Amino acid sequence: MRTAIGVDLGGSHVTAAVITDDGTIHRQHEQDLEDLRYDAVIAALGETIGAAIKDAGDAIVGIGVGSPGNIDAETGAVLYSPNFGWHDAPLGETLRKKFGVSVFVGNDARCATLGEYTFGSGKGTKDFVLLTLGTGIGCGIVAGGQLVLGNKWGAGEVGHHQIRPTDGFACACGKIGCFEAQASGTGLIRHAFAVAPSFPRSIMLDVDRDKLSSKKIRKAAQAGDRHALTAWKNFTADLSIGLANIVAFVNPEVIALGGGVSTAADFMLDAVRGPVDALTTMVPKGTTQIVVAQLGNDAGQVGAATMAFRGGLGTGDEAAA
Ligand SMILES: [Zn+2]
Repeated sequence: MRTAIGVDLGGSHVTAAVITDDGTIHRQHEQDLEDLRYDAVIAALGETIGAAIKDAGDAIVGIGVGSPGNIDAETGAVLYSPNFGWHDAPLGETLRKKFGVSVFVGNDARCATLGEYTFGSGKGTKDFVLLTLGTGIGCGIVAGGQLVLGNKWGAGEVGHHQIRPTDGFACACGKIGCFEAQASGTGLIRHAFAVAPSFPRSIMLDVDRDKLSSKKIRKAAQAGDRHALTAWKNFTADLSIGLANIVAFVNPEVIALGGGVSTAADFMLDAVRGPVDALTTMVPKGTTQIVVAQLGNDAGQVGAATMAFRGGLGTGDEAAA
């Protein structure tokens, strides 16, 4: 069995582990990131990856790193990452010099899509989309068995297609009513505040503003709270618009929903399946299934290792041994 090191580089921590080519994660090495400057992050990567390489014992195929940002998956350079405040950071090159093995770096959402496609809810399909609904919306598209990368690694930035450009919430990217602003976990919280004036006696308003989480709102909605249910309805209506747009763009066999909000599996799927069907016009109805993702938080790390096994993000099925 071949082994690679899979690395999940996030804005608050880094995790590295030996991953075998059946998708199994072995012992995790994790470090919190307090300092997000390049040298400090490289030091944390050096320690966690170094520990994982020691675990591997035998020769590894290489190292795969999933990182937020716009990433040149050929060189492994982070062209731009708002999370880290980096521009043109030569991450792949730095790690290659440090460890003397092949290093592949890809956008975290694209890595998660590759992981979910290979080992999770996308397994057996050729046309697959993963959406992770968390603080933002991450996305990756597989079409005809190929992860779609785009001209300059920007394909799959579905979170920033506008669905409510005139009456939506402001997005962190500067536009109004982006899918991410309306239908991420943060979007659910904003929907709850937006309808709050209609529910002056809502128990949710007793919670400190910065402590109102998407999980609290979702649980209250499941328990039948009227304020939460109204927010949930508006949130899932916006989510459905974006999902129907994805169906129109790529008509995948499966769209998998991952991230914190999707833990309410049936409650969420029941709310979106009908509206997505109603909004699906030219594409034959019912030809895209919406499901909940299977790998959870592991998808990105498993996908990063898969990228190392396949020799890059852009490599098709025929190259997967
Ligand atoms: Zn945006």
